[in-house]
Amino acid sequence: MTEERIKEAINTLKESGVRITPQRHAILEFLIVSMAHPTADDIYKALEGKFPNMSVATVYNNLRVFKKAGLVKELTYGDSSSRFDFASSDHYHVICSSCGKIVDFHYPGLDEVEALAEHVTGFSAQNHRMEVYGVCPDCREHGKILKS
Ligand SMILES: [Zn+2]
Ligand SMILES: [Zn+2]
Repeated sequence: MTEERIKEAINTLKESGVRITPQRHAILEFLIVSMAHPTADDIYKALEGKFPNMSVATVYNNLRVFKKAGLVKELTYGDSSSRFDFASSDHYHVICSSCGKIVDFHYPGLDEVEALAEHVTGFSAQNHRMEVYGVCPDCREHGKILKS
């Protein structure tokens, strides 16, 4: 299953004329296998042992290549640390307000909300973003509930 997804992603890259380097392969694999939503820094830390010549900037540049090929989505939260998500299928996110963990969940696309927005504003809707915030099971267990 995972192998299959990696293969598919590699094919997509090849089709868009992207050269597959061992680093690119490793970054892609990490994104698909980890199922997390890592920052460029997280990926760097996970792979620096394997690729001593790699820098955070290299990781970031590779992520941008993947993003351009439509394989990866960048989630920005108004700070410098974007998270990267392997864009397998559309999904929504629930985010822990204590530790920042992001977990996927599936729910039918809120197309009616876009339609309503178009109707009441005269805009032409392109996409939307919906996130649920809360406290994850780990943080609940450890009582690290953010007081805000
Ligand atoms: Zn948490
Ligand atoms: Zn996600």
